Amino acid sequence: MNAGSLVAPDTSSRFAPDSPKMKQPLRVMKFGGTSVGDASCIARVAQILRDAAREGPIVAVVSAMSGVTNRLIEAATRSEAGDRDHAEAVFAALRKQHEAALATLVHDEGKKRQLAVHLEKLFSEGEELCKGTALLRELTPRTLDAISSLGERLSAPLVAGALCAQGVRSEAVESTELIVTDSYHGGADPIMDRTRERSEARLRPLLDQGILPVVTGFIGSTQDGILTTLGRGGSDYSATILGAAMSAGEVIIWTDVDGVLTADPRLVPDARTIPVISYREATELAYFGAKVLHPKTLRAVSQAGIPVWIRNTFAPERTGTKITPKGLSNGGGVKALTAISDVALITVGGPGIVGVPDVVGRTFSTTAQVHASVLMISQSSSQNDICFIVAASDAKRTVAALRKEFAQDVAHEKVEHITVDSTIAIVAVVGENMRGTPGVAGRTFNSLGRENVNIIAIAQGSSESNISFVVFQKDMKAALAATHREFGLSGPVVHDAVTKGS
Ligand code: ADP
Ligand code: ASP
Ligand code: MG
Repeated sequence: MNAGSLVAPDTSSRFAPDSPKMKQPLRVMKFGGTSVGDASCIARVAQILRDAAREGPIVAVVSAMSGVTNRLIEAATRSEAGDRDHAEAVFAALRKQHEAALATLVHDEGKKRQLAVHLEKLFSEGEELCKGTALLRELTPRTLDAISSLGERLSAPLVAGALCAQGVRSEAVESTELIVTDSYHGGADPIMDRTRERSEARLRPLLDQGILPVVTGFIGSTQDGILTTLGRGGSDYSATILGAAMSAGEVIIWTDVDGVLTADPRLVPDARTIPVISYREATELAYFGAKVLHPKTLRAVSQAGIPVWIRNTFAPERTGTKITPKGLSNGGGVKALTAISDVALITVGGPGIVGVPDVVGRTFSTTAQVHASVLMISQSSSQNDICFIVAASDAKRTVAALRKEFAQDVAHEKVEHITVDSTIAIVAVVGENMRGTPGVAGRTFNSLGRENVNIIAIAQGSSESNISFVVFQKDMKAALAATHREFGLSGPVVHDAVTKGS
């Protein structure tokens, strides 16, 4: 399907395939929710793309407008509870928001009408899906994907429309046509060879004609054409998947901060931008909660070694952070900190546990069965307790599955308790060359001691590029501030450009 296909007349400053100006290899540029948050943001994005397109071919990938995915998910879950009014109110607000952006961005009456009809079809589709959900009082992962993906399907035609209005030939493309995934709804993974074939077949002819494709982030489809999503924040992953599929020279992730910073600037106000960072360091940060990058982002480009940039849509003159396979040693060990608080500590334990065969194996095959990703593990030497940490969203079903698995053992008092604690946070200290720097662990824990931060558990990966520890949520900010100071990571204040959340 052509998502609001709009191609402007061929009078623009667009790149042409054989233009002498074409210096750069293909670049994939992804814009997050805040970057496409309203009409003026989208106009800014169109300008960045127009300038970039003068230098070489570009594939754009866009997120939903800021806040939209959250509202769609809320509409879906409230519908499941039988509340039809809420979904109606959400769709009324979304219509208003997208129609206002359309009115500001596209002036040609014919094109505006064409786009309005396309957007209306998407709103109706969403409303129908919510009505069905309310009727059945059931929200399957497949339906949730269909509803939550509407934000990207709405924003991509708007961005393409804005580009056309600025004289850049552009076409919105739904990534269900490009990214082939497995059928794991809500967190699908790409099947790369099929994705490569489809992306080449669909995007290359557009690029060859000098048309800039604007692709929906976040979304893929199974081999049978069923829509899937790549997980929350997954548009970053969409960009690198397409970068790898199209053998791009680089992937640029445009967001609302200057790059990868030494810590989340919302938690550590004097965090500063890191100019170069390795795939591994960036992945560790993302895995432990640095929202600036989806944890799977670098997976797609690791084989080809394609560099990934993080840059600020609201300060495009700044260079940002370059993420490369090897990074750049900073000589001092620790490069950045991160923290994740929407996690839960699950404990399987009790004095009798020593007698239960294969508790560890059964525990983790259960977490695997329910697709819970385990962030940290700690086990006491006497085997009285196995503690591990999962995302808060995985906690309920993990505990339920464990209680089922160990029901017999609990009945016979071999397993005494399976408990969950949601008041904790993980803080991670990250730096690739920590390996050769003795004393990092000591300095970390001394600095926490000075601030009276109580440490609940500690883990250090064998890669020695990360030391992570568990603290109570109430101590998280103090733990970050203490370690940030201890490792001299502070610098000039980095201002968050706008308020956010997509
Ligand atoms: P987008 O909508 O562009 O995808 P996100 O909200 O997903 O943007 O990610 C950007 C946000 O990530 C920043 O606004 C910042 O608050 C947060 N963040 C967390 N940790 C870091 C970090 N180490 N460096 C930069 N940003 C970070
Ligand atoms: N819109 C999706 C989300 O909010 C994907 C993304 O923004 O990366 O999770
Ligand atoms: Mg994001």
